[in-house]
Amino acid sequence: MVVDVDGVLSDASRRQHLLAGEVRAWDRFFEASVTDPPIPEGIRLVEHLVGGRTTILLTARPARLVGTTTAWLDRHGVEWDMLVMRADGDHRSSPDVKATALAGLRADGHQVELAVDDDPRNAEMYQSAGVPTVYLHSGYYDL
Ligand SMILES: [Mg+2]
Repeated sequence: MVVDVDGVLSDASRRQHLLAGEVRAWDRFFEASVTDPPIPEGIRLVEHLVGGRTTILLTARPARLVGTTTAWLDRHGVEWDMLVMRADGDHRSSPDVKATALAGLRADGHQVELAVDDDPRNAEMYQSAGVPTVYLHSGYYDL
């Protein structure tokens, strides 16, 4: 199953203001992810849903944050099998990035039976790709 990070496992609400200005401070926004608090209910929900499936974390965070992201996951006891991130320099929307990643996972032989995401655009994308989706409402959707 594929699981989003921001808004599902990690609470990115405290850094959304960095995207609110006229010039969106994407670098500072991403760097601030290291201090995000966890979302315990989201982490527990994923633990209950996984049921022996492979947990593929699929995030629109750029790949340059792989070190801080994996350290954050370890620090908060999140279990995962695979981490798929946005390629650095890929400025497409989250659903476009995730649709491409989903196609790549399927091409590699991964069965994607379920998705968990807090972005309604991603939920729609997963649904249209035939993946049942659990939608969590975070209230912010940029990442
Ligand atoms: Mg999200």
